[in-house]
Amino acid sequence: MKKIVLGNWKSVGDTASNVVLLTALAQHAPAAGVELGVCVPYPYLPQAKAILEGTEIGWGAQNVSPFGAGAYTGEVHAGMLAEFGCRYALVGHSERRQYFGETDELIAGKIDRLLAANVRPVVCVGETLAERESGAWREMLEGQVRALVTRLGVDKCARAWFAYEPVWAIGTGRSAEPRDIAEAHAFLRRQLVALGVPQRDLVLLYGGSVKADNAQSIFAVPGCDGVLVGAASRVVGEFAAIAAAA
Ligand code: PGA
Repeated sequence: MKKIVLGNWKSVGDTASNVVLLTALAQHAPAAGVELGVCVPYPYLPQAKAILEGTEIGWGAQNVSPFGAGAYTGEVHAGMLAEFGCRYALVGHSERRQYFGETDELIAGKIDRLLAANVRPVVCVGETLAERESGAWREMLEGQVRALVTRLGVDKCARAWFAYEPVWAIGTGRSAEPRDIAEAHAFLRRQLVALGVPQRDLVLLYGGSVKADNAQSIFAVPGCDGVLVGAASRVVGEFAAIAAAA
């Protein structure tokens, strides 16, 4: 199983700074056994494609329409992402759940569309600080994955990648401790397997304040298949250093 290192630029970037980042990144062929990619804002997909095409590094989006082509003003559908060579798209990021009211129903629809277009959904799940501190995090995570398996079925969920992203660790500089990641990953695996997703198909990443200086300890967590990197993926050198730790 490859170690996966995905960047999430969020709603950050402009043409000039992206050129610097992408050109530097294109020099860093990922080591054998490492899958490296960046999820960029929609307008920069052609730019990512132009600079990264021909390298081993993939690119993807951070969102997708739950519908196909049609009268859905403002939406970008999965077929468009496929046309731009996107390998992946993030789905259900906590920022989308929180600020854009994304529900399990909507997220399931997006996953379905991506799979039909052969774009890998990277599905984010995670608990808030209050849920972590009250101990309700298990219930929360179980509910999030159950909602998806119930709507999509086992086969589709087996083709998605999951990212455990505790909300309290995102953008806070406070990564979860390796033992917490190990515990949450083991819990998520058990739940997904109990729901019928075959263990061998499960791909589970960690995201939340991953940086070059904590990447190694996160990759060392048993059963952690890789990382989803926000802010540090926009720092020249830092993202490549994280990939080198994989
Ligand atoms: P962060 O974001 O690395 O800036 O904490 C991670 C994410 O939101 O995917």
